[in-house]
Amino acid sequence: MGVVEEIKCPHCGAPIAFEPGEILATCKYCGFTVVIETGQTFTYEHSLLLNKYDQTQIEDSIRSWMREGFLKPSDLARKAKISEKQLIYLPFWVVSAEAKSTYKGVFERITPAVTKEGTIEKDYEWLVLARKTSQFPTRDYEVPLEGKIAYDFRRIEGFAQVFNSEIEKAEAEEQAKAEIENNHRFLAQQDVDKIIEIKTEIKIDETVYLHAPVWFVKYDYKGKTFQLILDGAEGAVIKGDIPPKGFGIL
Ligand SMILES: [Zn+2]
Repeated sequence: MGVVEEIKCPHCGAPIAFEPGEILATCKYCGFTVVIETGQTFTYEHSLLLNKYDQTQIEDSIRSWMREGFLKPSDLARKAKISEKQLIYLPFWVVSAEAKSTYKGVFERITPAVTKEGTIEKDYEWLVLARKTSQFPTRDYEVPLEGKIAYDFRRIEGFAQVFNSEIEKAEAEEQAKAEIENNHRFLAQQDVDKIIEIKTEIKIDETVYLHAPVWFVKYDYKGKTFQLILDGAEGAVIKGDIPPKGFGIL
């Protein structure tokens, strides 16, 4: 955590705290979002996904994840002690884009090898985490975007934290484009063994600023600490550390 600074909310006058490196800040008293550098109103769409779990209910999701699947130790749900449960509304940019790639490559799985052409056309709601530091498995996170509403600060729980954006919209769009292009290159490589050329055109329709509820959980099992990340909208585990079977047995 860096030094906390403050800016005055242009809407309600309350102080809005922010940290160095943050670009957008949201007022916790009125939900207004401001561009820190200019003090101007943030004029794009700002959405929110609602969290459906309180600190007790989220434990049920955690325990049932611990019980399911045969990769986990059979006493995990019983013996694990949850030591930390933190709800954080993480900022994302959701980039809606249409992408089309045409490629030419060599198909070497038959003899003689042949040259092959193909097209990949896809629509995306590409997610970019608006934080620079955090290690978050964005590609594993299937955001239930159908549930999003206009940002409403009254729906944010008192015990939750809301993180501000450290990445500008234009930067997020560039990142989304690069990642989509990589994804298409990966897809083309499923079709041909060697790519001779690939051209990708990406049209961005809309980019929405979104806060999504994510639970960061720590649990102790046989003297060691493990981490879990859960989606607060549907209670699904986004990523979880699993102690190896037989862990703790000497
Ligand atoms: Zn305000």
